[in-house]
Amino acid sequence: MDPSVSDIDVTAVRDRIEAVEARITAAAERAGRDPRDVRLIAVSKTFGPERIEPVIAAGHMLFGENRVQEAQGKWPALKADHAGVELHLIGPLQSNKARDAVALFDVIHTIDRPKIAAAVKKEMVAQNRHPRLLVQVNTGEEDQKAGIAPADLDGFLKSCAEEHGLQIEGLMCIPPIDEEPALHFALLKKLADRNGLRELSMGMSADFETAIAFGATYVRVGTAIFGPRAAKPPV
Ligand SMILES: *Cc1c(COP(=O)(O)O)cnc(C)c1O
Repeated sequence: MDPSVSDIDVTAVRDRIEAVEARITAAAERAGRDPRDVRLIAVSKTFGPERIEPVIAAGHMLFGENRVQEAQGKWPALKADHAGVELHLIGPLQSNKARDAVALFDVIHTIDRPKIAAAVKKEMVAQNRHPRLLVQVNTGEEDQKAGIAPADLDGFLKSCAEEHGLQIEGLMCIPPIDEEPALHFALLKKLADRNGLRELSMGMSADFETAIAFGATYVRVGTAIFGPRAAKPPV
């Protein structure tokens, strides 16, 4: 273990992770699902390596970041030190960041338009690196939010497969903050089933148990593991 990581930090963080995992297991069992089909992504955005190291030392290997540039500042070194870490991009992707995103991330949850599909495909070929891919759906059809509109999803998935040669594994959504998340989780599940997609990335600290009831296979949990973030994330 990294000597700068104290046993006290690791024990505290392990307790928090175990508490979240116990809630995941209970929610899966209530829904008649196998808890192993729900994977926990620890969302480490805004936190530096000193806060991430104890989580890795506690044995957790799946992490999520929402900004490519921020992730690039900390994860190449962390990944080099810790084989087996799996890094997920859960924030919006711009085409000028496709190269960095394909190089760094193992799963990208936020493919959401033809330009991004094309840019990611180009980089996958150029780098011979093949992150797993999900499509973000803007289930609340919010102007300020990334994601493809539900009505455009089926056509977009077809173009991902046929024009871009991309294999999409699932869907991701972030419900509007002022609405009942269950409606959005139910919609995402319906869209995934209709398109034969296996993975559903939905649910955060406040609502992951509801998301599991509706079929989540990835839950993205930040606050419940790392504690509160500073009000304004560093840019
Ligand atoms: C920050 C973030 C999360 C985690 O949110 P918490 O409420 O801290 O659990 C999940 N998903 C996305 C896309 C995020 O940006």
